[in-house]
Amino acid sequence: MSGEFDLIRQYFTHRTRHTLLGVGDDAALIRVRRGHVLAISADMLVEGTHFFAGADPEALGHKTLAVNLSDLAAMGATPRWATLALALPKADARWLAAFSRGFMRLARAHGVDLIGGDTTRGPLNLCVQIMGEVPAHKALQRDGARAGDEVWVSGTLGDAALAVAARRKKIRLTPLQLAAASRRLDLPTPRVMLGLALRGIAHSAIDISDGLLSDLGHICERSHVAAAIELDALPRSRLMRAVAAHIMMPGVAQDALLSGGDDYELCFTASPRQHTAVMRVAARARVPVTRIGRIVKAPAGAVGVAVMDRDGLPLRVTQRGFDHFG
Ligand code: ADP
Ligand code: MG
Repeated sequence: MSGEFDLIRQYFTHRTRHTLLGVGDDAALIRVRRGHVLAISADMLVEGTHFFAGADPEALGHKTLAVNLSDLAAMGATPRWATLALALPKADARWLAAFSRGFMRLARAHGVDLIGGDTTRGPLNLCVQIMGEVPAHKALQRDGARAGDEVWVSGTLGDAALAVAARRKKIRLTPLQLAAASRRLDLPTPRVMLGLALRGIAHSAIDISDGLLSDLGHICERSHVAAAIELDALPRSRLMRAVAAHIMMPGVAQDALLSGGDDYELCFTASPRQHTAVMRVAARARVPVTRIGRIVKAPAGAVGVAVMDRDGLPLRVTQRGFDHFG
């Protein structure tokens, strides 16, 4: 790409805080603190699949990093370094300036160094690899849930899915409602502080990127357990309650709550003995958390998530989260 090096210098070379060698050489050099291990994750955002064509570049910069930070939050890791691989249809300086503003603002807020990447011409594609540190044996894994654990989620569920439904004209929202839902979809808040605070308290954790049923299902699979959650207990925003109250839309609201992706809240499990500890550290991290159900023994191989109505009867739920190849 012509002018590639100028662009990199201009938009992707920033001062680093905990990096031995950053952008500009053939590889970056980092040192992990003694007693810690590296937590590494990558997430790619593709135009048309993860965001609409013409999406605001500053918001995209934010989201590209936010979804990666969310993965480290779910591991209880401190985010430190990121690489950024970009395919761009053209070298548009205004687009790059806005994208880099959104990306770097969030990076600085979390103390993340941008230490390298790749820039190439092609259909718009944004790929981040994020690296963080976590004390050895302290990571929050998906495979640690135990029968008897309480199941928790942070924040509220389903608002991002409401924004998608509105943009696809499946539901109608007022301009104010659409703005609120769009903020959740376009500018997600990764729950990094909460993830760190849950180390040593939670048995397992995952971030909700594909929908509660699907992602809690992953915890169940990896932990060889089942989960029973209460529909009424799921945390709903004001927007969600308004949509659910609308006579034409309760089904949409329920689908969004249970299977909506893109919320980037944390779902985690912890012993009931840790109930007050969970409440305490969540308050300190300034993130609301809600107990939504229990982990139970898997009945003969049937790992999975059951959703209970207010009478304690299991609901038939068809939509099971978003699967790119489903
Ligand atoms: P190479 O030919 O070795 O792949 P590049 O010309 O692709 O080197 O990149 C030069 C330097 O700029 C490298 O340090 C690389 O990590 C960094 N870099 C390239 N693109 C990006 C980007 N989008 N964001 C951050 N750093 C980048
Ligand atoms: Mg390269």
